Amino acid sequence: MNSRYEVVIGLEVHVQLTTKTKIFCGCSTEFGQSPNSQTCPVCLGLPGALPVLNQQVVENAIKAGLATNCQIAPHSIFARKNYFYPDLPKGYQISQFELPICEHGWIDIETAELGKKRVGITRIHMEEDAGKLLHNEVDSSAVDLNRACTPLLEVVSEPDMRSSDEAIAYLRQLHQIVVYLGICNGNLDEGSFRCDANVSIRPWGQTELGTRAELKNLNSFRFIKQAIEYEVERQIDVIEDGDEVVQETRLFDPDRGVSRSMRSKEEAHDYRYFPDPDLLPLQVSADWVTRVRDSLPELPLVKLQRYQDEMGLPAYDAGVLSAERPVAEYFEGLVALYNNPKVCSNWVMGEILGALKDKNLGIEDCPVSPELLAGILQRIDDKTISGKIAKTVFEEVWQSGKSADQVIEDKGLKQVSDSGAIEAIVDEVIAANPGPVAEYRGGKEKLMGFFVGQVMKASKGKANPGMANQLLKQKLS
Ligand code: ADP
Ligand code: MG
Ligand code: ZN
Repeated sequence: MNSRYEVVIGLEVHVQLTTKTKIFCGCSTEFGQSPNSQTCPVCLGLPGALPVLNQQVVENAIKAGLATNCQIAPHSIFARKNYFYPDLPKGYQISQFELPICEHGWIDIETAELGKKRVGITRIHMEEDAGKLLHNEVDSSAVDLNRACTPLLEVVSEPDMRSSDEAIAYLRQLHQIVVYLGICNGNLDEGSFRCDANVSIRPWGQTELGTRAELKNLNSFRFIKQAIEYEVERQIDVIEDGDEVVQETRLFDPDRGVSRSMRSKEEAHDYRYFPDPDLLPLQVSADWVTRVRDSLPELPLVKLQRYQDEMGLPAYDAGVLSAERPVAEYFEGLVALYNNPKVCSNWVMGEILGALKDKNLGIEDCPVSPELLAGILQRIDDKTISGKIAKTVFEEVWQSGKSADQVIEDKGLKQVSDSGAIEAIVDEVIAANPGPVAEYRGGKEKLMGFFVGQVMKASKGKANPGMANQLLKQKLS
């Protein structure tokens, strides 16, 4: 990026879990409900109310840990992180501090310059979210505590990334993993996947880290990239001006593309962490970890490799088809019924994803199931229809939900492979085009395409193109 300084980035990501209920009470986690409708004495922080740990949250944390190659701690601790803010009625957030549930993991990312690169995961811990302040009045604010006590995983990376591109590659990979696991809906707009970026620079060759700034309020991949790049330039300017970078938290303003200091290290909170006396230390048995490991889906990077190695797909196809779990499941369902991965890939990436995009649908809502699509492909194989007519059949199947066979029958789309019938059309085409016929016979062999086209047109696409070609050659020579 810069010839004089090396960029160092470490990321802290908050992953909001999709459990039905909150981490320490039975309230619903559903998004977008009316303010404070999903609260109880526990998440309102009323005195005497006791938290009860949601086992599903623990299970999801184990999933995330295993999928990112972490060690799962058999014994971990919930701690109180103390600070005062109106969105936190208890006056402390329950989090994990000294003994988190997952540590020492890594994920691999692909980068343009380096190819595969491993990024360390320092830790993943469970915590509760705070509520949300609504500043909708001129002289007062309101608080919505529906989000209070919503389960989060905080995923902390090692300072291993060296450019904004690597940071984005890491985030996309992590995002893909948690969505694949089904533990997060991945929605950045709703704040279900939030990132704080720690950025520093240092002269090339220096081993100790430079002073970092922590960037907050980054709710899209584009803003994260923009904010990191802005920050790197800012730190270079500071150093080149002979000043020192100060450790601080900065808030990114996406409208203006700049960040401003929110608080310096001196103003940083002292959270006075201590073990939460209301929650027992968490024990996770080896058995439990094994059960969760056995239940994990095949992860996107493994699929990506398998699609290339075992199915022989090009890297591009493998990337598109493995990126989202429902697409991968559709594709694999299709291959199970029609064992030609490349043909399946072409149809899924072309017709299916194309049509879904046009109609703004997800693959879960695709009206052409793998079974229906396999039915079309089989009819191309056995030459009942041509590849071209198959597109028409596809559209019909999409519209009507009928099987390929039914559509071919109803619309009379069966390919004509009767040589007598094709011969008659070939004769008509030759009779109707004396000019091109003369030119062809005079040596302009390129015109064969034109004649085949005319035969296909006259047969409404139903003539067997191979036979049409052969008959034309015979008759024109
Ligand atoms: P805090 O307790 O303030 O959150 P941590 O030591 O837990 O600080 O680090 C938080 C994140 O900052 C981690 O992702 C870590 O990799 C990253 N980080 C720490 N020091 C630096 C640095 N000098 N430059 C870039 N990132 C850093
Ligand atoms: Mg931190
Ligand atoms: Zn509650």
